[in-house]
Amino acid sequence: MDKLTIQDIDLSGKRVLMRVDFNVPLSIGGVADDTRIRKALPTIRYILEQKSSLVLMSHLGRPKGKLVPEMSLKPVAEHLAELLDREVLFSEDCIGDAAEKQASELKPGEILLLENLRFYKEETDNDPGFSQKLARLGEIYVNDAFGTAHRAHASTAGITKYFNTCVAGFLMEKEINYLAKAVESPEKPFLAILGGAKISGKIDVIQNLLPKVDALLIGGGMAFTFFKAKGLEIGKSLLEPEKTRLAAQTLADAEEKHNEIVLPVDVVCVDDIENPTKQINVDVENMPPNLIGVDIGLKTIALFAEKLEQAKTIVWNGPMGIFEKPDYAKGTFAVAESLADRTEKGAITIVGGGDSVAAINQSGLNEKITHISTGGGASLEMLSGYQLPGLVALTDK
Ligand code: ADP
Ligand code: MG
Repeated sequence: MDKLTIQDIDLSGKRVLMRVDFNVPLSIGGVADDTRIRKALPTIRYILEQKSSLVLMSHLGRPKGKLVPEMSLKPVAEHLAELLDREVLFSEDCIGDAAEKQASELKPGEILLLENLRFYKEETDNDPGFSQKLARLGEIYVNDAFGTAHRAHASTAGITKYFNTCVAGFLMEKEINYLAKAVESPEKPFLAILGGAKISGKIDVIQNLLPKVDALLIGGGMAFTFFKAKGLEIGKSLLEPEKTRLAAQTLADAEEKHNEIVLPVDVVCVDDIENPTKQINVDVENMPPNLIGVDIGLKTIALFAEKLEQAKTIVWNGPMGIFEKPDYAKGTFAVAESLADRTEKGAITIVGGGDSVAAINQSGLNEKITHISTGGGASLEMLSGYQLPGLVALTDK
């Protein structure tokens, strides 16, 4: 990575202001899933070991510039305290005199979590005045919030103007290293698997990855717009009519440039997603007009597994079917199995995308994947070849 990280600078005795991604689901009892908090622990522990004090800031949900009590980070402070087994102070306001006083009184090894940044609309507006107020709370700026690095917000972008040194935390560094290496200098054969609902959200990923991969495997809902582009019957499957031409063009370009796109050869179809009375596995040439494609079929599962068998680098984004329903999750879990298997045999496997990560967690194979990205949107942007504003804003090495 060409940006400074916390290991490149002397933090000792300093007050560190760190942007983290504590945008976690809450339930009545507190934090419902603390994955994102746990991912920030290595950086937090490292900073505290340097005899520094630490001010943490994050957003949670979309309060849209208003104080929404249900989106308070207070339960997160309590949860973090449990995880670290030490006190975590909380500031009811992320800016202002009280927050500044609390921050300035921190002793080495003490932590203060600020209230939800998005209680101010200035955060998402990347408002310079707001950035400046936040900047008063620390002497060194660290960004470990990979999940929001694709947004130029006050706490991720604007704020960096008010510090001499802005560095990446361990999580940010790890995410960037894996994703950037996969996209820029992957060990070959390099395969990508794309799925999920729509082409529209991922066409940039397709176009950026296609010339770089040895093969691009496409499943999920987006496959049907490609089938439509090929003139196949797709029944009542998910279709983006306005993207059919783009799909046709993508297939034609790939063929001309000898970039391999592998589409499903068969699909699982049902007459009704919620209450099916009929579920069949058909070749894509034989789809009946009234059915809906909900998963890749058995032949496709075998085909994808065979393609993946030689890969040394695999990037996966987007489920192969409506995996939320166990009956339609077979294709998605089979791909998860293939990745786990390849990882065991030395390949680098990377999974990005909110739903894909949920699927891999559900499959129980998450420990067997090289890298699971914590940022759905941010990982997609990286796979699209875009620069992340939150990363660009950090100090060059
Ligand atoms: P990710 O969050 O991993 O990037 P997406 O958000 O693009 O993935 O897509 C995930 C969604 O795609 C899931 O909710 C899943 O149900 C849906 N999906 C997958 N296959 C199909 C299909 N054949 N028809 C309709 N929806 C599908
Ligand atoms: Mg999603």
